[in-house]
Amino acid sequence: MNTPALPGTLYIVSTPIGNLGDISTRALEVLRTCGLVLAEDTRQTRVLLSHAGIKTALASLREHNEARVTPRVIERLQGGEVAALVSDAGTPLISDPGDRLVRAVIDAGLPVVPIPGASAVLAALVVSGLPAVPFTFFGFVPRKGRERSELVEHLAGIEHTAVCYESPERLADTLTAWVEAGFGERPAVVARELTKRFEEVRRGTVRELAAYHSTNPPRGEVVVVLGGAPAKALDEEALESLARTWRDEGLPAREVARRLSEEHGAPRNLAYKLAHR
Ligand code: SAM
Repeated sequence: MNTPALPGTLYIVSTPIGNLGDISTRALEVLRTCGLVLAEDTRQTRVLLSHAGIKTALASLREHNEARVTPRVIERLQGGEVAALVSDAGTPLISDPGDRLVRAVIDAGLPVVPIPGASAVLAALVVSGLPAVPFTFFGFVPRKGRERSELVEHLAGIEHTAVCYESPERLADTLTAWVEAGFGERPAVVARELTKRFEEVRRGTVRELAAYHSTNPPRGEVVVVLGGAPAKALDEEALESLARTWRDEGLPAREVARRLSEEHGAPRNLAYKLAHR
């Protein structure tokens, strides 16, 4: 690590999502040299630290105690200690605790420094084969109630790639609900046990994956990546305004007609007419 830690720094340290080889040398150095490691499950993090021969003191920071623990951590940082936040797997704050602590550290005027590394959302996105930018990450699919149906409504209209965490037990139900909501023909990917022994990436339409997982419930940890909804066709007024802008920019009519029909779904004769108007 090239820069020594400033007193009072909180490091946000990513740890592996399965394969222990995915921890960075910088992460190990921070965990070795800081005064305190804040972990969700201290026993689980102890295994990771022991594996690397690290004996740094551990304290628990989880959803239920974050409000209580945060002021104490701030006091210690203000006293000049350096701390690291880790979660059970992957990157803290990504569907894991830490939001409140990071906000409090910023409000106290102390440094927060990332030590980036594994996160299931990005690992799944980059092997999905679906466009990676832009994408929206929704965290865990809500189990029930209004939040669950609001997510379905949101996904129905989203024109770019979406990523969700889901439990293996609920995966088939969730995919089936998406088929019922009318997006069964959209492409999707179920990425399971990434970086682990039984890693599997299954691609298909939502309908195909729903059918498959209804009879083959997945084991282990799962990320679902959903392709965007087809772009809504523009009305004639919007197409005409696009055509005018492109002609004003000096594009030839042939290119304007091509863009209108191929990129915006305009019928060919309408595209031709608007491009030459
Ligand atoms: N903070 C973590 C991260 O950066 O990915 C995520 C923590 S969240 C509590 C746990 C969820 O992440 C799992 O239920 C699963 O959806 C996803 N996940 C974590 N590890 C995974 C893996 N190896 N393969 C697939 N999904 C994984």
